[in-house]
Amino acid sequence: MIDRAHPGYDEARAVWNGLIDRRPAVVARCSGTADVVEAVAAARDHRPVVSIRGGGHQVAGSAVCDDGLVIDLSGMKGVHVDPTTRTARAQAGVTWGDLDRETQVHGLITPGGEISATGIAGLTLGGGFGFVMRTFGLSCDSVRSLEIVTADGRVRTVDREQEPDLFWASRGGGRGLGVVTSFEFGLHALGPEVAGVLVLHPYEHAEQVLRAWRDATYAAPRTVTPELLLWSVPADPAIPPELHRVNCVMVGAVYGGPPGDGATAALAPQRQLGPPLLDLSGSLPYVMLQGANTWRFPDGERYFMKSHFMEELTDEAIRTLLDWDSRRPTPESLIVVRTLGGAVADVDPDDSAFAHRSARFNVSIDAGWQDPAMDEAAIAWARSAWEAMKPFSSGGTYVNFAGLAEDAGELRGAVFGSHEERLERTRAAYDPEGLFAPAARMP
Ligand SMILES: Cc1cc2nc3c(=O)[nH]c(=O)nc-3n(C[C@H](O)[C@H](O)[C@H](O)COP(=O)(O)OP(=O)(O)OC[C@H]3O[C@@H](n4cnc5c(N)ncnc54)[C@H](O)[C@@H]3O)c2cc1C
Repeated sequence: MIDRAHPGYDEARAVWNGLIDRRPAVVARCSGTADVVEAVAAARDHRPVVSIRGGGHQVAGSAVCDDGLVIDLSGMKGVHVDPTTRTARAQAGVTWGDLDRETQVHGLITPGGEISATGIAGLTLGGGFGFVMRTFGLSCDSVRSLEIVTADGRVRTVDREQEPDLFWASRGGGRGLGVVTSFEFGLHALGPEVAGVLVLHPYEHAEQVLRAWRDATYAAPRTVTPELLLWSVPADPAIPPELHRVNCVMVGAVYGGPPGDGATAALAPQRQLGPPLLDLSGSLPYVMLQGANTWRFPDGERYFMKSHFMEELTDEAIRTLLDWDSRRPTPESLIVVRTLGGAVADVDPDDSAFAHRSARFNVSIDAGWQDPAMDEAAIAWARSAWEAMKPFSSGGTYVNFAGLAEDAGELRGAVFGSHEERLERTRAAYDPEGLFAPAARMP
């Protein structure tokens, strides 16, 4: 237990987003399920506000609360891979970097997030976008079972047969249901090398590139997961210094199979969208791909993000995106267009709480900055750009990319679409007294 008098208090309450400055009464650092059971029992006895921490990467900082109890699982780092059954059991404090490292020993993956420092827990419970999602689905689609401590203190193993409602809700709607202590994931063969495209296009061609990218993306096979970024070129040693901080359109795509001629042919349309500033396409180890961007989003800087799902990327939507991109408040800020479809769309919309199976795109507007004096301007930019993109939205937003607690109101009812009612029923059945209600209200 870490309280305000503990020398490690400030470190224990810090999360990835430096904008978040919450002061919990106590942080319960759990090292196993028994600790979680005790923390939940203490919460039942004393009724503090409770928050749950996995990797601490949620932009809204919902892993920490003011004056309450943080149930901190970040020390629970166990991973066991069974290559025979192609499954991995991972505790809830594991990051994607930790999990990829273990599964890649066997040439296997479970599709995860794009930044290796992000926690598997929050990301999977909210759905889970990644570099190979069109081939292998969302992270939550690979969950076979999970262990969860519910508000009554019971340790439950949930899967399709046991507690199916809780299993349904935990995949895409997994806030405010209990404390997940571990996940069992199904694994897929991929790696150690993967083929990908990374092409930087000059900003003056942005509109043509976006249109060409959209058309190429509509035609892409499910083995290809494209992604487009409007950004200033990061100061990456692999990029010539004269390009650093130059505005550009970045086109990325990853092939969900072995590198080779098939991969090259499938990726070619993503690579040939116009004369590039720089083409860094090729193959690289999967673990390296997953970690390649981590340093670009360092701990302790200030972040705010919001997103929309979209069925189409119309010409007008492209022009609106570019208009708001031209007003980006800092070079660290960016707009990312991810493509769904393929394996994501294969899953029956009612199979899990994730409610956006038919969306083709997710657009996230990501403000990043360092100077606290920029807080207002950077947040206002992201909120305004998000408002401007609303007419193109297919409804709802992505819980994992939700802004701040103040933005949660407008998310409610939209996040899970038609699944909202079933999710609320499930929460009420497993947590009738609302022990985890604050976690359910926060993104
Ligand atoms: C740099 C960066 C990159 C990202 N990239 C991606 C990406 O590629 N794809 C994507 O889909 N998302 C991505 N995200 C968003 C990410 O999915 C969410 O921020 C997610 O919440 C992170 O999980 P975490 O465990 O680190 O979160 P935390 O901040 O620890 O937790 C967030 C919330 O999840 C719930 N939670 C966490 N652990 C548990 C648990 N064990 N039991 C019950 N509830 C729990 C709690 O309600 C908690 O408040 C990214 C975020 C960042 C900051």
